[in-house]
Amino acid sequence: MTMKTSLARIFVQNPFCTDCITPIKKRIMNVQNIRNVALYPSDSLVVFNFNKVNQVSEVLNTLMALGHPQKGDHITDETFVPPLCKCKVHSSNTSMQHQTILT
Ligand SMILES: [Zn+2]
Repeated sequence: MTMKTSLARIFVQNPFCTDCITPIKKRIMNVQNIRNVALYPSDSLVVFNFNKVNQVSEVLNTLMALGHPQKGDHITDETFVPPLCKCKVHSSNTSMQHQTILT
């Protein structure tokens, strides 16, 4: 008996950086029988293989708990979770680099 494997592509809210791939990936892998988890920070994209639809909703719940809910999900004050990746807060570095170049 072979199980059909499907590919899920989930775009998430709140960007994550390459350093935060490992902790996010670990949490997603906790969902049973999820395979080939890949995260793409440049697109805020999460990709994985699954067999059952309920596995996808489990991953979506996990992502929401990590503060990276699926794009389009409406976040209220009650459901808001601070994003696991807070590294982007320091992305003002780029404007500082600009200043260095200009001066
Ligand atoms: Zn990060």
